[in-house]
Amino acid sequence: MYDVVIIGAGVSGSASARELSRYKVNACVIEKAEDVCSGTSKANSGIVHAGFDANEGSLMAKLNVEGNLMMEELSKELDFPFKKNGSLVICLSKDDMPKLQELYDRGIKNGVKELKILNKEEVLELEPNITDDVYAALYAPTGGIVCPFSLNIALAENANTNGIEFKFNTEAQDIEKIDGGFIIKTNQGDIKTKYIVNAAGVYADKFHNMVSENKINITARKGEYCLLDKTAGNHVSRTIFALPGKMGKGVLVSPTVHGNLIVGPTSTDIDDKEGVNTTREGLDTVIGKSSMNVKNLPMRQVITSFSGLRAHEDHHEFIIEELEDAKGFIDCAGIESPGLTSSPAIGKMVANILKEKLNLEENPNFVGTRKGILDPNTLSLEERNQLIKEQPAYGNIICRCEMITEGEIIDAIRRPLGAKSLDGVKRRTRAGMGRCQAGFCSPKTMEILERELNLSMFDITKAGGDSNMVLGLIKDSI
Ligand SMILES: Cc1cc2nc3c(=O)[nH]c(=O)nc-3n(C[C@H](O)[C@H](O)[C@H](O)COP(=O)(O)OP(=O)(O)OC[C@H]3O[C@@H](n4cnc5c(N)ncnc54)[C@H](O)[C@@H]3O)c2cc1C
Repeated sequence: MYDVVIIGAGVSGSASARELSRYKVNACVIEKAEDVCSGTSKANSGIVHAGFDANEGSLMAKLNVEGNLMMEELSKELDFPFKKNGSLVICLSKDDMPKLQELYDRGIKNGVKELKILNKEEVLELEPNITDDVYAALYAPTGGIVCPFSLNIALAENANTNGIEFKFNTEAQDIEKIDGGFIIKTNQGDIKTKYIVNAAGVYADKFHNMVSENKINITARKGEYCLLDKTAGNHVSRTIFALPGKMGKGVLVSPTVHGNLIVGPTSTDIDDKEGVNTTREGLDTVIGKSSMNVKNLPMRQVITSFSGLRAHEDHHEFIIEELEDAKGFIDCAGIESPGLTSSPAIGKMVANILKEKLNLEENPNFVGTRKGILDPNTLSLEERNQLIKEQPAYGNIICRCEMITEGEIIDAIRRPLGAKSLDGVKRRTRAGMGRCQAGFCSPKTMEILERELNLSMFDITKAGGDSNMVLGLIKDSI
C-alpha cells in the first residue's frame, strides 16, 4: 500500500511530488499519458504572473504571489529557463482608467511589489511597439516568463531522483474507499493507497465527485495561440496584456524564454475535455485582438498554432484541501491560470497537508538540485570543442532550426523519466520546435530513439498511444 498516490503528472502533480520527496514517504504519481507534462501544463502562455489579477483574499491570489516569489530560486535549483521580464497591462482610453486602477489596488492588496501606473510616454519609452493609442499601463516588474515544459519536467525528474515513483500509461478509472485508504482502479490494475492527491487537471471534478457528495464542476475553457518565429522575438520585451474581461486576462503578446513571440490566448468554454484543436475563428480572434495593443505584429512569421484547456471551476478558485466527507482524499482542483506560476506554492501546500496527516519525517537523502540538459550553445568555443572531442555526438546537429545536437537528445532519453517519443524529445531539448516544426529532424530523432530504446521504427510514436510515426513500408504495397 502506498502512503500517497498523486493522480496526474502535470505541473501541480509534479510540484506536489517534488515537495513530498523532501520526506520519507512511499509515494507514486500515476499519469494516463506516456510522459509528464502532457495536459494543460504543456499548452499555456508560460507567464509567471505578478499576482494582481486574482481576487483579494483568494487562495489563487495567495499562491500566485508566493509562486512568483519562489520561481527564480527554483529555476536556479532545478536549472530551467526563467526570466523576470516584467509585464504591462495596456489601457487604451481615459474611460478605462478605473479598471486599471482597480488592478493596481488589487495587486497592492495581494502583496505585489513594485507596481506602477505609467503614462503614455513612459509606456512607449519602454516598449516602442505598443500602439500609439495607448493611454496608460500598469507596469509589474516582477512578472516573468518560464519554459512550462522544462519547469514540469524538472520538478518530476527531481521528485523521481528523490524516490517518488512514476507510472505512465496508467489511467485512473475508478476509486473505491476501503478501511484506511482507497483502491484506485486503473487500466494497469488496482493500486492501494492511504492518501490520494487529485491533480488530474480538467478531469479533477470526475475524481472529486467519485468520493464526495459536495459535487464540483470543471469546464474546459479553451485558449488558442499563434507562436511566431525567433525573428519576431524582440518585437516586445515585456509581456503585454490587455485589460482583463469577464472570461479572463485577454489576449497577450509576449516573448518566450527561448526567444519566440507568443500571441494569444482566446477564451471559449467547450464540452470536449480533449478538444485541443485550433480553429480558424479562434486564430482570427487572436490576430485581431493582439493588434489592438501592439502595432506592426509580424503575423507572417507564425510557425505554429496550438491550444490548451483551462480547468475552470465554477467558483474560479483553486481547491486544495482534504475533503471533509472523504478523509484521505486531497483535491488539487480548479488549477486554471495562474496555476503554472503558483505551482511551486501549490506543491508546498499539498506536501504540508500530507506531512501533517502522515506525520512524515524528513528525507535525509533529499537532493534539492538538478542539472538540466547541457546546451552546447552556452559553452565557449574551446569548451565546445573539448566536449565534442570527448563525446562526438555533441558535434552532430540534428535539429537545424534550434541547433540541437545528438548529444542533447541522447541525454534527454537517458536521464530519469527520460523521453520515449518525438514529443518527449521535443519538450526536453527543443528539437522540432523551430521554424520547420520537425520537418527535417523527425526521421533523425526517430533513429536515435530506435537505437537508444532498442525499439523498432514501427514502435516510435509522436506522443505515445497509437500516434505511431511509421505505419508501413511503401515497398510492401508495391
Ligand atoms: C490557455 C492557457 C493559458 C495559460 N497561461 C498560463 C500562464 O501564462 N501562467 C500561469 O501561471 N498559468 C497559465 N495557465 C494555467 C496553467 O497552465 C495550469 O494551471 C496548469 O498547467 C495546470 O496544471 P495541472 O497539473 O493542474 O494540470 P495538467 O497539466 O492538465 O495535468 C493533469 C494531468 O493529469 C492527467 N490525467 C487526467 N486524467 C487522468 C487519469 N484518469 N488518470 C491518470 N492521469 C490523468 C493528465 O494526462 C495530465 O497530465 C494557462 C492555461 C491555459 C489553458
